[in-house]
Amino acid sequence: MTVLRLAMPTPLRSLFDYLPPAGIELAQLQPGQRVSATFGHRELCGVLVEVLENAAPSEYEIKAAGAILDTSPLLTPGLQQLCLWAADYYQHPIGEVMTAAFPTRLRKGGQHQSLAIKAWQLTTHGKGLAEGALARSPRQAEAIAALRRDGPTSQGDLAGAGIKRPALKALEDKALVETCELNPVPREGRARPGLTLNQQQSQALSAIAAAGDNFTCHLLEGVTGSGKTEVYLQMIAACLARGKQALVLIPEIGLTPQTVARFEQRFDAELAVLHSGLGEAQRNRAWEAARTGIAHIVIGTRSAIFTPLAQPGLIIVDEEHDGSFKQQDGFRYSARDVAVKRGQLEACPVVLGSATPSLESLHNALQGRYHHHRLTERAGGSKLPKLSILDVRKQPLQAGMSEGLLNAVEDTLSRGEQSLLFLNRRGFAPTLQCHDCGWIADCQHCDARLTMHRRQRRLRCHHCGHNQPIPSACPECRSEQLLTLGVGTEQAEGVLREKFPMTALYRVDSDSMQGRDAMQALVDQVNGGEPCILLGTQMLTKGHHFPTVTLVGVIDMDALLFSGDFRGEERAAQLLTQVAGRAGRADRPGQVIVQTHHPDHPGLQGALTKDFHNQAIEILADRTARSLPPAGNMALLRSDCTDAAQGEQFLRDLRLAAQAHMPTGVTIIGPLPAPMQRRAGRFRAQMLVHGKGRREVQQATRRLISLAQQQKSGRNLNWSVDIDPQDM
Ligand code: ADP
Ligand code: ZN
Ligand code: ZN
Repeated sequence: MTVLRLAMPTPLRSLFDYLPPAGIELAQLQPGQRVSATFGHRELCGVLVEVLENAAPSEYEIKAAGAILDTSPLLTPGLQQLCLWAADYYQHPIGEVMTAAFPTRLRKGGQHQSLAIKAWQLTTHGKGLAEGALARSPRQAEAIAALRRDGPTSQGDLAGAGIKRPALKALEDKALVETCELNPVPREGRARPGLTLNQQQSQALSAIAAAGDNFTCHLLEGVTGSGKTEVYLQMIAACLARGKQALVLIPEIGLTPQTVARFEQRFDAELAVLHSGLGEAQRNRAWEAARTGIAHIVIGTRSAIFTPLAQPGLIIVDEEHDGSFKQQDGFRYSARDVAVKRGQLEACPVVLGSATPSLESLHNALQGRYHHHRLTERAGGSKLPKLSILDVRKQPLQAGMSEGLLNAVEDTLSRGEQSLLFLNRRGFAPTLQCHDCGWIADCQHCDARLTMHRRQRRLRCHHCGHNQPIPSACPECRSEQLLTLGVGTEQAEGVLREKFPMTALYRVDSDSMQGRDAMQALVDQVNGGEPCILLGTQMLTKGHHFPTVTLVGVIDMDALLFSGDFRGEERAAQLLTQVAGRAGRADRPGQVIVQTHHPDHPGLQGALTKDFHNQAIEILADRTARSLPPAGNMALLRSDCTDAAQGEQFLRDLRLAAQAHMPTGVTIIGPLPAPMQRRAGRFRAQMLVHGKGRREVQQATRRLISLAQQQKSGRNLNWSVDIDPQDM
């Protein structure tokens, strides 16, 4: 008998067997089709993974599936394989992985819509119409002539040629023309001429081009402004010339307009842009264009790595170190790592680019697993800015800013130049405290303080979204002496406005930058070159280049230096390098002022005396000595429930049960409370699986999962697995 193995959108880690729907022939079944089937009491939309042609009769009753939803598979074979790999590697339910590869409408079983557009064609009767038969209706005659000449033509093209609907309708009534569907024909994608590459750029380009249609992985490590994007553009040009598609992953939605504009200028080709801000219809069209090969270039954020491509030829991950490539909930995957696997499965080169590569990628490059290309100088000839440390100990500060920094801003403005100030905290102040009794405004749902947003007159939790009015008196002792501690962008903005009332000031954080076009408008304004001050959070450091900014100030370096996570030092070095890299062009070199209470901190001294690359090599040596990633491997098992004790008990039971079966070289650490134990009213605990070898850690995790599924204390709580966790 024939059995269908389906991936169903459920949290269960297995495939499910169904019989083919009644009346369906073997020839109509292909993996990658969507299939509806009853699961429990619900009708769900699953994906056909395998057709077992001569399955042995089962002792259980197998139900028949409801219907085959697609006449041909919507997921390409390469993407099916990728999903199977990802479900296995990340140990996540296959059904959730597979269905995540579809746009929402299709995921829910909605009808697949092709890109075909409405068109008109002659009927047999119309084709045989005698010349001059419509002499009394010149418009209709014109329409017949056009369709006879051009064949089926879209309504839009006809309208463009002056042929209106009434004429077509009249002809339709006479059964001379009829509507039909016209599928878009893939056209040839072309590149316009690019810049003449410098030696480092052309070396990188030719090494990657030499890979042709084979899998190779390349780390393009190039300082900010070294011309990485120019290299991408020319690699894509070569890919299009081979008749293949390119997939480009970028970190943030804020980057899209700039990137897309640059691609549009360079290419005479179809671009499909995929990001979370798209409407459903747009998303479907972009996805379909990628899948059918109509789109030559697909640009998107994290989840775009699962877009099916008809002719994959090149995958680029820009700013590959960026944290947004890691999905932090549900199906926890790294789009960068999935990209590398995809290149391997679909036989195409993969390029990871960054000024500050992740230690994972740098490690792979140094070990010879990736080709390594370095661009060590800025392309336009401009110099990288000079870094200086400003010791703020014992100095009066206004909203966290010292006189030295404010004077530097003033000098910059008086030269008619622009400043960029970095403060990675939005709101007015991160803490509100009672001066008389010490009460602190905490979130009632999280182990976190509420941030004061003065303009909105609210206290907000940045972790769960809870918000409440700012109290006028202390709820504990009724004192009205409420103080704010710490500084956020809103507060710094107030001080800067007072100091520089005549200067344009742009605050850039997720409160002030609402809407898709806000960032683009800002970039255009600033790059106009008028003197101004830019003040903002991490949002400012991502990808945007402000060549007319000559001063960069880091208001609170200490917040970056002290982090509990073993990745803290790497992140601080990346962030500092990225902020610094926003500034300066050929004729006006930039300077960077870093405020700190810890001028001797090794991380800072490292940044002063070494470039990122050498700093990274040192951090890597330290990680290797401690067998930490990328030299070692990790997985996290997290519990999440409304009762703190229950979660920890579950993990403890699990550890006890697993202890005897652990592969050698693997240790289990914990259970420990998560860094923020209580969040949105739920208590989180975690257990770390750590070992040198990837395979052993995988094996240990697999065992823990299978034990967890049997564990009684796990029935009434949520638990999840995070392979290669980023935050812990
Ligand atoms: P990155 O992506 O590394 O930040 P870009 O590709 O954006 O660098 O290049 C930075 C600037 O240098 C851009 O203005 C770009 O036009 C210019 N540029 C890049 N390559 C060259 C080149 N070979 N010759 C001249 N200018 C270049
Ligand atoms: Zn009080
Ligand atoms: Zn909260």
